[in-house]
Amino acid sequence: MTTYQITTELTTNKKQKMTVDQLGFGQIFTDHMFVMDYTAGQGWHDARIIPYQPLSLDPSAMVFHYGQTVFEGLKAFVTAENEVLLFRPDRNFKRLNASNDRLCIPTIDEELALEALKQLVIVDREWIPNAPGTSLYIRPFIIATEPYLGVSPSKKYQFIIIMSPVGSYYKEGINPVKILVEQHYVRAVVGGTGEAKTGGNYASSLKGQELASKEGYSQTLWLDGKENRYVEEVGSMNIFFKINGKVITPALNGSILSGITRDSMIQVLKSKNIPVEERQIAFEEVLEAAKAGTLEEAFGTGTAAVISPIGEFKWQDEKIIVNNGEIGEVTQTLYETLTGIQNGTIEDAFGWTIKL
Ligand SMILES: *Cc1c(COP(=O)(O)O)cnc(C)c1O
Repeated sequence: MTTYQITTELTTNKKQKMTVDQLGFGQIFTDHMFVMDYTAGQGWHDARIIPYQPLSLDPSAMVFHYGQTVFEGLKAFVTAENEVLLFRPDRNFKRLNASNDRLCIPTIDEELALEALKQLVIVDREWIPNAPGTSLYIRPFIIATEPYLGVSPSKKYQFIIIMSPVGSYYKEGINPVKILVEQHYVRAVVGGTGEAKTGGNYASSLKGQELASKEGYSQTLWLDGKENRYVEEVGSMNIFFKINGKVITPALNGSILSGITRDSMIQVLKSKNIPVEERQIAFEEVLEAAKAGTLEEAFGTGTAAVISPIGEFKWQDEKIIVNNGEIGEVTQTLYETLTGIQNGTIEDAFGWTIKL
């Protein structure tokens, strides 16, 4: 095993911790962060854990102008036995490198990144909340830092990991969300950056999101960028439908983000002998199933919410109510199985969790 040189400078000024109900999502950050620099010709260097602090960047740093940046999102949990579990972190660093490749950012050593993450979580161990449904949300990201206003890949980068204790996503139990099917804007096209986890995809999704929330819908369902016909994703989650006993999710076609929760759900479904298909699905098919009474469930998946049941779709002037606006049986089972594996109450037969 390689040993990595990661230095640690501990804070002398620990922050006040919040109570569980003050947590929310992504507003509070732990005492430390991980930083590593990249310089062309030298590679990645100076891996270090330091007190959480603002960055100092030149206003001409390339990330501010042309959006050369990638990110990840994963969680750490404490079990009832007071052990710390990370959920499939290797997949996040693998995907980070896939995003790096698309954005012309130099790849990182995935093992070093995992080692850095483990050390950082151990340093800020006391920040992991232990109330049911809570976790430590971890945000690794890379930014182009070279001060230069030319359009080309930056010659300097920073890889940073910050962490935020987060409350239960579902304070009053899991309530199905209402989704507006977007007719005008698109999130991504095949050949674009939809498959990469990069800030620009989110910037371009805000407008549709804003219009949806004005109409009283909490998220946007994105259709494909070419024909505006095939289902892609919902908000920042992958989407699943249960139609006539079969679970269907759009196949990874190049414009859809390859969710780790999506992959985990597919594996859980297969292990429970529930039929699951990854294929192209037109929204008309969902509409027809709803009319025929065979649209049984719909849900989104992603690290933050784990699973988000969908109770209603609005498509043009039609409203489609799913399962009387209630959470479905398969959705509930998937939620319990995945959260159980993540917090250590269900045996991890898949080998997904890493114990620190
Ligand atoms: C991160 C993300 C997801 C969910 O991926 P997970 O690995 O399950 O968290 C889905 N869609 C988009 C656009 C995303 O950025």
